[in-house]
Amino acid sequence: MPVLFLGHGSPMNVIENNEFTKGWEDAAKNIPKPKAVLCVSAHWETWGTMVTGSGKPETIHDFGGFPEELYRVQYPAPGSRWLADKVLNILKKCETAVDNGRGLDHGCWSVMSRMYPKADIPVVQLSLDQSKSGMVHYDMAKELIELRDEGVLIIGSGNIVHNLYLVETRGDDFNAEYGFDWAIKAKELIKNLIIEDEYKKLADYGSLGNAAGLAIPTPEHYLPMLYTLALRRKGDILKFFNDKTVAGSLAMTSFILGQ
Ligand code: ZN
Repeated sequence: MPVLFLGHGSPMNVIENNEFTKGWEDAAKNIPKPKAVLCVSAHWETWGTMVTGSGKPETIHDFGGFPEELYRVQYPAPGSRWLADKVLNILKKCETAVDNGRGLDHGCWSVMSRMYPKADIPVVQLSLDQSKSGMVHYDMAKELIELRDEGVLIIGSGNIVHNLYLVETRGDDFNAEYGFDWAIKAKELIKNLIIEDEYKKLADYGSLGNAAGLAIPTPEHYLPMLYTLALRRKGDILKFFNDKTVAGSLAMTSFILGQ
């Protein structure tokens, strides 16, 4: 199974049809149908690492100020106790616990609802432990590599450039291409480090300079990318898509690693 990093951007992508949602749909069409999905989303931060254990995870509408229509969307994909147990077992050294009450956050179901609209693929989420450094996240993610051989699709869902304090849209379209100089610079820098597989530099994201500092004011949207990168295998082909900057300070850049 390949691995994916998806820039999820605005929750409106759930109900809009645009080039980014098309990019997600195409990604799903071009890979084998997964047995289950393990999603590492920017929108589930915890102390210690958690795994969703619910057989019927609820759809969490964890955003504010959007049209009513968006709050009515449900994504009723089942959970997978098999996958949750497998992840717990693989990460047993890393203080990982199961959360049976937790549902799916919008970082997960926004992209899943476009990739697999039938909601027929079981989904498990893995949280981001706020106490861990970039390198510890990367090393932990590496342990999950065997899941690729089990037909599990691992998706990191965040944004490599994500600064909501500085968002500025041009006109009404949030997704119109527009990036501040620093945002474009940070996007290109991070992309080049991904191409070169400079994972140590990427894990030490606080040392990537001023542009990256503005792009990563908090780590939660950036860290899911490290999970995807950590699952890279020799011989994987790296392909970027949705590689655009929107609203000044957000990069929708996504990539797939696979054969
Ligand atoms: Zn987000």
